[in-house]
Amino acid sequence: MEKDINSPKRVLKIPLETLNACVQCGLCKTVCPTYREELDEAYSPRGRILLAKTLLEGKLQLSPEVAKRWDECTLCRNCEDICPNGVDYKELLVHVREEVNKNLGKDWVKYLGLKSLTFQGNSIQKLALKAGAFISKLFLGKGDTMPVVFPTGAVKYFPKPKFNAQSLRGKIFLPKGKAKATFIFFPGCMYENFYTQTAENVVHILQKLGYKVIVPDGVSCCGGPHYYSGFTDMFNRLREKNTEIFTKLAKKYSVDGLVVVCPTGGGTFKEDYDLPFPVYELVEILDKELKELKVEKEEKVTIHYPCHSYTAMKIPTDVFDRVASKGAKVVKGELNKSCCGFAGMFSVKNPGLSQKILKRKMEDFSQCGAQTILTSCPGCVLQLNEGSIRYANDLKVEHIADFVAKRFLTEEEKQTYQQLWEEYRV
Ligand code: SF4
Ligand code: SF4
Repeated sequence: MEKDINSPKRVLKIPLETLNACVQCGLCKTVCPTYREELDEAYSPRGRILLAKTLLEGKLQLSPEVAKRWDECTLCRNCEDICPNGVDYKELLVHVREEVNKNLGKDWVKYLGLKSLTFQGNSIQKLALKAGAFISKLFLGKGDTMPVVFPTGAVKYFPKPKFNAQSLRGKIFLPKGKAKATFIFFPGCMYENFYTQTAENVVHILQKLGYKVIVPDGVSCCGGPHYYSGFTDMFNRLREKNTEIFTKLAKKYSVDGLVVVCPTGGGTFKEDYDLPFPVYELVEILDKELKELKVEKEEKVTIHYPCHSYTAMKIPTDVFDRVASKGAKVVKGELNKSCCGFAGMFSVKNPGLSQKILKRKMEDFSQCGAQTILTSCPGCVLQLNEGSIRYANDLKVEHIADFVAKRFLTEEEKQTYQQLWEEYRV
C-alpha cells in the first residue's frame, strides 16, 4: 500500500494556531530578502505560510517542488521580527522541514554538511584540521582564503584551516587582578577552526575587562543549524551533550554567563536550551564596559547586523552602533538590517538566490561611503568577504571583536594574556 504522505496528520504536525495567527496582511514581505529578489509570492513569508496551510487542508500534495519553496527561505526571521500578530515563523518552518525530511527523504548535501558539524572538537577532526592546515600551506599559496566547490555548484571562499585550530579549548584564561566574574566562552565551530585570531581576541578582551574565561573542552556545535534545517534528532543529541558540559562547569566554577560571538548559536542557547546562566553576545558586554578605543586615523565603518542578533537574541541594533562609534564614524545604507544571504546550508543549496541577495547588499554598502563593514557572526564574515571578492573589492570586512581588539589591546598585552591561563578540571 502506498504511503499517504499527504494525510494532514502524517505530513504536517504544525500547531494550527501558528498558521491561523497569520492574517495574511503581507507586512512581512517588506523585509524578506528572498521576496525582494524574486518578487514572487511563493518566495515570501506569507506565501510559505499559505503553502503549509494548503497542504494541511489536503488541497496540495507534498512534493520536492513544494519543499523547495521552504528550502529557499534563509530563516533570517526578519518576517517574525516585523509581524504584528506574533506568528512564530521559526517553529513553523522547523516543523515543516522536519516533516519534509521524514516524508521525502534526506537531502544528502545538507545532511552530510550538518553531520560534519557534530564532529566538532573530537580528536579525528582535530587531526584533520592540522592536516588541512599543512596541505594548504604547502599547496594553496599565499592569501587567507581558498575557494571550495560544492556539488550544487556553489563556490564559497573559506578561510584556510589554521595550525592553532581549537587550541583555546580546555583552558581557563585569567585577568591580571581579581576576577570580577566568570564566563564560559562558547567558541563556535567556525571561529575555532578558521577564525582562530578572532576567538583569541574575544578571550583577551574579556581578560582585560577583568573576567575569568573558561573555554570548555568537549563541546560541539550548538545545533542551531541542525534545528533550523529540521534535523531535530541531531539537534537534541548536541543539546544534551553541550548542556551536560555547561552544567558541570556551572557547578564547579559558579559561572556568571555564557558569551558567544555567533548570534545563531546565542539565539539557540537562549531559545532552545535551558541553561543555568544567562547568554550574552560579546557586543552587549562591550557596550556596557568599554570606555574608549584608541583612534589613530578617521575611518568610516558600516554595520551588518547579523539577523539572529536582533530576531533571536533580541539585541537592539544601536548596541552595535555604540560599540563601533567608539573607534570610528558609523555610516549607514538602506540594508544594514537585512540578511546577507549566507544562512549556512542555504547559500550552498541555493547559490543563485544567495548571490542575488549578497550582490544587492554589497551594492548598498558600497554606496554608503564606508571603508569597512563590521559584523559579529562567522557566517556573515565569510559571506561578506565573498561579497567583497566578487562585487566590492574596495570594502574590507572585519569582525567587531577584531576591530575592538586592534584599538583596545597592545601586542604585548595579547602575548601576556595568552600566557595567563590555568588548567581546567571538571
Ligand atoms: S506572517 Fe505576520 S506579517 Fe506576514 S502576512 Fe502573516 S500576519 Fe502578516
Ligand atoms: S525567514 Fe527571512 S527569508 Fe524566510 S520568509 Fe522570513 S524574512 Fe523571508
